Amino acid sequence: MAATTEFLTQLRQIHQDLGIPASYLEQPPLPLCREPEVLVDTSPDFYQRPQKLIPAAHQGWLEMRAAAAREDVVLHLISAFRGIAYQRDLIHKHLQNGRPLVEILQVVAAPGFSEHHTGRAIDLGTDNCRPLQEEFEKTDAFQWLVERAGEFGFAMTYPRDNPFGISYEPWHWCFRDQQ
Ligand SMILES: [Zn+2]
Repeated sequence: MAATTEFLTQLRQIHQDLGIPASYLEQPPLPLCREPEVLVDTSPDFYQRPQKLIPAAHQGWLEMRAAAAREDVVLHLISAFRGIAYQRDLIHKHLQNGRPLVEILQVVAAPGFSEHHTGRAIDLGTDNCRPLQEEFEKTDAFQWLVERAGEFGFAMTYPRDNPFGISYEPWHWCFRDQQ
């Protein structure tokens, strides 16, 4: 409980610094996402940057990628774990570029609310498709994910018209604990 209070105090400060209204934390549009205790190195991403996930999500991702490859479907990892500080810096960068906060929060979750904090979320891409673009939904890789990702514990978090007010993200998949 104390840890949660401390966490919220930190978040409140970060939000305040970014100019996010206090009402966001009082009635968050997204579930709170904590950073995990344990992260492991997963496969490097498409740009050869090191990436981390929680162990179960790492395992699920490797199995899913291998299963896709067996059916000639290429899945690239674009991004995995991203911490709260990263999210803060990202929003800060958008603000510096003159983008209005309301607009930023439609595409970037506020610090403390990105599923990438949990080490369970992955952004995926494939060949001949610009990363993190809606056109991903037209690829074979996306079709394959819709049909098969569930077997490996992954689900899409932000489908069209999701209740979170986050724009459609066909590339974003999150590891749920397998049944
Ligand atoms: Zn994502």
